Amino acid sequence: MIQDIAPKIYDGTFHRKDVEADSIVFCMYANQVLMRHSVEHTFPTYRELSGAGYILEKKDCQFLFQIEDQTYFLWKNYHLSDDQKQGICGFSYQNIRSVREFALLDVCLAASTAYHLFVWYRDNQFCGRCGSRLIDDYKERMRKCPECGNMVYPKIAPAVIVGVTNGDRILMTKYADREYKKYALIAGFCEIGETAEDTVRREVFEEVGLHVKNIRYYKSQPWGFDSNLLLGFFADLDGSDHITRQEDELAVAEWVAQEKTTGMDDGVSLTREMMDLFSKGLERAF
Ligand SMILES: [Zn+2]
Repeated sequence: MIQDIAPKIYDGTFHRKDVEADSIVFCMYANQVLMRHSVEHTFPTYRELSGAGYILEKKDCQFLFQIEDQTYFLWKNYHLSDDQKQGICGFSYQNIRSVREFALLDVCLAASTAYHLFVWYRDNQFCGRCGSRLIDDYKERMRKCPECGNMVYPKIAPAVIVGVTNGDRILMTKYADREYKKYALIAGFCEIGETAEDTVRREVFEEVGLHVKNIRYYKSQPWGFDSNLLLGFFADLDGSDHITRQEDELAVAEWVAQEKTTGMDDGVSLTREMMDLFSKGLERAF
């Protein structure tokens, strides 16, 4: 999965650090990230950006995280000019999700996590309580309001993924209105006031009209492309297997035989790992 980058280690500890020549600097706008034109599809260093004529003031470069000895920064410029959006020598802006298709796992994790942080920094420039401009705290990753004292912490949206099983079949879905056309599992955001297990029961009933029992937690996954922390569960069907599909959410919802889920693991997403695990037998996980 995206987080399985061993022997490398992701370190999200907050530090006050200045950008250095060899630091990777993420330049982003909308859902676009500046990437190198090469098979590796990696990201520019501060030295490369400066050499290509990008004027990045060090105070606008925000430390994000480290992976091994490599430090990653965000260029906090939320108003790129049209010229800047054209990219620079050797680099162009590409859809953030494209890293999933061709990047190494640690590069993919770095990009999705940087995007999550970019979205949070971009969308929290002003206090939601009084409208004043927020300032960065220096001890932790937090933005605070100098006027009213509001403290704004990084926003992570927890969501569940559910493998609903019925003997040697698992329930698979396809979304009705998303670019992603492959099989998925039941999934949805946790509502305020719910446990994750409550979310599992509610989402399964809402999306396919089924009841579940024996809910077992499997694994979690950071998914910065959508600001999520994904929580994977398996659950057994309880009662009728008749599917009542929520048509505005799902184009397909069907029971898929165990042998047809072989080889579905793409090495990146928790959903795909869970599908593949079902083909091998869930006793391997619990
Ligand atoms: Zn305020």
